[in-house]
Amino acid sequence: MKCPFCGDRDLKVTDSREAMDNAIRRRRECGCCGVRFTTFETIDISLQVKKRDGTYQDFCEDKLIRGLDAACRYTRISHDQVRDLAHAIKADLLGRGIREIESQQLGDMVMARLQKTDVVAYIRFACVYKRFQELQELIDAIQSIGEEASAAKNVLGSAVC
Ligand SMILES: [Zn+2]
Repeated sequence: MKCPFCGDRDLKVTDSREAMDNAIRRRRECGCCGVRFTTFETIDISLQVKKRDGTYQDFCEDKLIRGLDAACRYTRISHDQVRDLAHAIKADLLGRGIREIESQQLGDMVMARLQKTDVVAYIRFACVYKRFQELQELIDAIQSIGEEASAAKNVLGSAVC
């Protein structure tokens, strides 16, 4: 870090304390020009999911929990277990230093964990997951045909959601 005033790198931390939202507030003093200023450090643990169309989306734990909740309905897996599972997957990825994952890999991870936890939930999720993949392939194919097919895509999309 450089001093915002003189550009020198001789900065000293004079005070460090916790601020809101897990941020750390630091008072710094420049050893060259003597100016004092405050910095806020936050923890960056963003995880990106690469979708099949090549675009990226922030990993959304809530979305994963909702999908798993739906798959685990009428099984022995409780909402708390679903939450733990989603949390464990995220922690596993971040723990291994992964900041980017393909949506398919993420689905495979979920399936692997569900398989160990509850067979019924696993099969249900596998059905939804497989159907979604097939539908996505269909949508991709339609999109490659051209814009005039977008109406058909909307019809297909609303039929599933
Ligand atoms: Zn300075």
